Amino acid sequence: METVKVAVRVRPMVAQEIQKGCREIIEVVPENEQIIIKNSDKAFTFNYVLGPTNRQEELYDKCVAPLLDNIFKGFNVTIFAYGQTGSGKTHSMGTAYIENGNDREVGVIPRIVQEIFNRIRDEFSIDFTITVSFMELYREVLYDLLANKPRDQCILEIREDIVKGIHIPNITEMSVESSRDILEVLVKGSLGRATASTNMNLHSSRSHCIFTINFCMQNKADKSQNKTAKLHLVDLAGSERPKKTGAQGTTFKEGVDINKGLFVLGNVISSLGDEKNQNNFIPYRDSNLTRLLKDSLGGNSVTLMIACVSPADYNLDETLSTLRYADRARRI
Ligand code: ADP
Ligand code: MG
Repeated sequence: METVKVAVRVRPMVAQEIQKGCREIIEVVPENEQIIIKNSDKAFTFNYVLGPTNRQEELYDKCVAPLLDNIFKGFNVTIFAYGQTGSGKTHSMGTAYIENGNDREVGVIPRIVQEIFNRIRDEFSIDFTITVSFMELYREVLYDLLANKPRDQCILEIREDIVKGIHIPNITEMSVESSRDILEVLVKGSLGRATASTNMNLHSSRSHCIFTINFCMQNKADKSQNKTAKLHLVDLAGSERPKKTGAQGTTFKEGVDINKGLFVLGNVISSLGDEKNQNNFIPYRDSNLTRLLKDSLGGNSVTLMIACVSPADYNLDETLSTLRYADRARRI
């Protein structure tokens, strides 16, 4: 089983880039799943590439829909959106309509949720119990976005033991029975996050957001036959380096912590498939992001990384850094 797939999505130019007089420098070659940096010798190949004219539906059909079977077979599935702030992570994941009222075209989460419930409706022989949780990881502190309590009382701990594996005591798990239920929970959690911050954009660029759907599947005829699976949908913190100006005190520390999560995630993904890694040491423990997702990275689980980039020359450095990160994840 190929456990990690990487999709790179190049968004269209945004108004700000057009106003600045930016030029488009990223070329997408769909036949070869290749990204080329114009006027350079740099080219990258991924499992999937999507360009500025590819719509949300294509992202879903090409990259996400093929993952669905795994869940119903009892494998964990994790979908990450990676990239600099403003590159299209939230748009791609499909929660942009919550953050900025933009819902012209729904993205991954509403689509996969709809498809899951369509499948459940057609699976007559299985009883499903579905719960969801919603967490935010900010400066290595984990918050429960569904707890309905003041923010300082929403802090969660990550525990690990031999019997339960990774678990998070006291996390809010909501039962859901329809795609509408799930979307309501998403809105509720996102609102909790927005009110925790005076500047939503700044805040969302610095935290990882982890939406998890837990599946319990029991065979109706033979109740001893049951399977569980988890689907994690993760909108990662912005991958940009902390800006040199104003990079002092708290701001700088934030930057360092966040890049640590992304940095360790990159290390974990690349060591999963490294044949030279003989003793099979995977550095999950080096960050809370990877500790949290330990049982969903590697082993019998499937990961899709959606790396988002801007097409503009102005963002070339960050784009190259994203393409290199994605390239490293793909080499497994
Ligand atoms: P991020 O979450 O990575 O910070 P956003 O998803 O908020 O970035 O995207 C930044 C801006 O670009 C938003 O205005 C969004 O609507 C727009 N955008 C991103 N990706 C696309 C796309 N594929 N097609 C059209 N607009 C996009
Ligand atoms: Mg975002």
